[in-house]
Amino acid sequence: AKSAGRDSFKVYEQTRPERSVNKLTLLEEMRTGIENGEFFLEYQPQYNLVSGRIVGAEALVRWQHPALGRMMPGEFITLAEESGLIVPLGRWVTREACRQNKEWQESGLMPITVGVNVSARQFRDDGLISDVRDALEETGLAATYLELELTESLLIKNADQAVGLMDDFRRLGVKLAIDDFGTGYSSLAALKSFPLTRLKIDRSFISDLDFDESDRCIAKAIISLGRELGLCVVAEGVETAKQQAFLASCRCEVVQGYHFGRPMAARKFGKLLAMTLTP
Ligand code: C2E
Ligand code: CA
Ligand code: CA
Ligand code: CA
Repeated sequence: AKSAGRDSFKVYEQTRPERSVNKLTLLEEMRTGIENGEFFLEYQPQYNLVSGRIVGAEALVRWQHPALGRMMPGEFITLAEESGLIVPLGRWVTREACRQNKEWQESGLMPITVGVNVSARQFRDDGLISDVRDALEETGLAATYLELELTESLLIKNADQAVGLMDDFRRLGVKLAIDDFGTGYSSLAALKSFPLTRLKIDRSFISDLDFDESDRCIAKAIISLGRELGLCVVAEGVETAKQQAFLASCRCEVVQGYHFGRPMAARKFGKLLAMTLTP
């Protein structure tokens, strides 16, 4: 049975490019997939570099497609954004992340913050704030354990309305992170005007740290800038011990990346969180 499974995976890989071209089919399948519970979340751990403890997780959506198998966000998020389906999908993602986080807390695990990605299309939707409020109320999760990750380009493009909406979220008590920082030409002054709690350095600056002197300078500057502004700085895409050591030398607070753990199923993450607590 195992080898049959492997064969059929090959078939998917060959047929996938053709299938994905048919946007309308995929779109309709996405619509029903949301209703049928075909989407699920994986959680990637975030560690405090000094204590070595898990302090958070990023929730990342996946789609268990009935015919194509497991699909990654790169294969459907753009289509979801273009079509507006990202609004109901994002609503589900937020609610599920809150529900899962509350469940971990209820089972006695150390409370952590779970980050959820919010795309520009969702951010422009009037219902976002009430969707988030509803998710918190319905699951009973305290707002402080939810973090919304907003990309730098989203904030810059919607700068006028962004600050007001972000203030509303801060009043609600949720945390706000600027994602993919360093990629979107935001002025450093603009950074100050956003009510942020965290800054996530884009993976592109981390990946070449071991051999690119200018990336080291940039990463170091972003980390101290974040610290000066009172933000928690997260480095994402950390893949090597050398990168970790460099980030520690810059006093980067939190790290996320394959070196520490890949995105994983909720059950597995729960076990990891339980283990981390063992003295
Ligand atoms: P992102 O927000 O920058 O998320 C981090 C991505 O980097 C994830 O890819 C993660 O698996 C990957 N990653 C983590 N550590 C490493 C590492 O050490 N090395 C490398 N090479 N990659 C690493 P993923 O899960 O494929 O997600 C891709 C993007 O899709 C995300 O980028 C985010 O923009 C979007 N996305 C994912 N889930 C959601 C969602 O629920 N809603 C929305 N709107 N977007 C989502
Ligand atoms: Ca993110
Ligand atoms: Ca990112
Ligand atoms: Ca580079």
